[in-house]
Formats: sequence, structure tokens, C-alpha cells
Amino acid sequence: MSWETISTKKIKCPCGKGFIEQETKGDDWNRYENETPVILCEDCSKKYKIESKYFCPKPKHDYTIYYCVNKENEEEKIQLEL
Ligand SMILES: [Zn+2]
Repeated sequence: MSWETISTKKIKCPCGKGFIEQETKGDDWNRYENETPVILCEDCSKKYKIESKYFCPKPKHDYTIYYCVNKENEEEKIQLEL
């Protein structure tokens, strides 16, 4: 049994020169899992780190929101529209 990448979401990074990519992996049992987004931009990967916040308002309706957080100023958070 193996996990395979079933989709890749790509959005622009905060500076607009690169991308942020998130892969969704699935297995033979139709389970799927979102990977942590990766910053594919030299400038932004130096400046930001990825943080996630998990929400579970009711069972089976859980979701995770990801942010780019400025490493030097944690007040600066950009929510990723993935
Ligand atoms: Zn960038």
C-alpha cells in the first residue's frame, strides 16, 4: 500500500516572485492527507516559516489553516489561500 500525490496546489508566495506548494496525498483506501505547504521561493523561505492551525468544529469536519509567519516578527502572519 502506498501513498501517492493526487493533487498539488500552487499559490503565489508573499513577495510574488515564487510559489508556495502543497501536495495532497492519497492511498488505495481513499484516505487523503494534506502535506505541510512548502515555500518555493528563496527570499520568502528565508523570511517566513509555515505555521498551521488545526480546527475541528465537529467530527469529520476538521481542517487546517496554514500561515506564513515572519521569522523576525511573529505578528506578521499571512494566511495561505490553499
Ligand atoms: Zn517570495
